[in-house]
Amino acid sequence: MSNKILKNILNAKPGTTTEYNTGTWRTFKPVVDHEVCIGCDTCNKVCPEGVCFATSEKNSKGRIFYDNDLDYCKGCGLCAKECPVSAISMINDYK
Ligand code: SF4
Ligand code: SF4
Repeated sequence: MSNKILKNILNAKPGTTTEYNTGTWRTFKPVVDHEVCIGCDTCNKVCPEGVCFATSEKNSKGRIFYDNDLDYCKGCGLCAKECPVSAISMINDYK
């Protein structure tokens, strides 16, 4: 199989994440500690599903904090791994 064909099979079209509710088969889910979050946007940059976002709210330190759209989060843990202040914990989400 050529690399071009393989690439087309493996890659989903950009921007189609919201068509697939990946939250239904997740084992772990991220929980953001809003007081620890510094609003650095790292989780948004690394999330393969593009579901980390800046809320319109501020914590007690006056920083806009981030959260995740759990309907489309697949629980990969990348956001938690890369968060520079360990504001994200991955917890069991067994259904
Ligand atoms: S666990 Fe993975 S899919 Fe879910 S918000 Fe974090 S980086 Fe995105
Ligand atoms: S990576 Fe961590 S500190 Fe940065 S915006 Fe996301 S939750 Fe907040």
